[in-house]
Amino acid sequence: MGDTEKKVKLIDSDGRRNDGRMPHELRPVKIEAGVLHRADGSAYVEWGGNKVLAAVYGPREAHPRHLQKPTRALVQCRYNMAPFSVSDRKRPGPDRRSNEISKVISEAFSSVIFLEQFPRTSVDVYMEVLQAEAGTRCAAITAASVAIADAGVPMRDLVVGCASGKVGGVVCLDLNKDEDNFGEADVPMAVVPRTGQIVLLQMDGHLTAKEFDQAMAYSLGAAQQIYELQKDALRRRYSVSLEEFRAKEATASPEPEEEPKYDVYHDDQPGVAE
Ligand code: UDP
Repeated sequence: MGDTEKKVKLIDSDGRRNDGRMPHELRPVKIEAGVLHRADGSAYVEWGGNKVLAAVYGPREAHPRHLQKPTRALVQCRYNMAPFSVSDRKRPGPDRRSNEISKVISEAFSSVIFLEQFPRTSVDVYMEVLQAEAGTRCAAITAASVAIADAGVPMRDLVVGCASGKVGGVVCLDLNKDEDNFGEADVPMAVVPRTGQIVLLQMDGHLTAKEFDQAMAYSLGAAQQIYELQKDALRRRYSVSLEEFRAKEATASPEPEEEPKYDVYHDDQPGVAE
């Protein structure tokens, strides 16, 4: 443990963390689907202080063409942090970290999307971090998954990202910025909740086997809560459309009576000669 780590008190005497959470508690999470009209599918996630927007296009013809796969679709992901998303301005454009995150997220989605149904195409997934406060890759996967579903791309299930780690010697769920900076370990993962399949697993720092099991148990439990929020966001998106459709139907004026296509003869009609 370095000097800076000693100065930052991450767990108090009641076992609470520096933001008041207990070790097993998530930060507040909000999810909205269908927030962009130009994209085929989109979603917005607020997760603690993280704000992430995801947009999805496709399946559409893969470009550049030499990347096309004759038997399946590609999943091309781009994770990007806006320059204003962190306290020190982030240099715009891709870097090693964002390339790595884009790659592992592409691999995670490649194992759930029915790629073989769309040869030579690409599903393009853009994730823009507008505000970052640790755990952005998990928030980005969670948002992208809802955006892919919103685009109607067939997949086995949604994917949920979640992280756990170790802070002040205690295994904790969903590390915040200070915990990420000064904690001992961080384990982001992504899971397919219906099957329990792990499609992304990374680890920064060290955990014992027992601590690792505890971290996984926390993340898997939290993933079920986030899964419900994802499904809820999709339901809200489509039930609103249905309600709007019904409201339109109810207020629509009845069909106008059709004008007769020929002159109708009335006895008393002026100017009509026998
Ligand atoms: N971060 C930063 N500048 C950077 C990259 C990261 O300030 O260039 C911060 C940001 O708040 C991020 C956190 O460090 O959420 C942790 O980054 P990490 O690489 O662990 O990824 P994340 O936890 O966001 O998936």
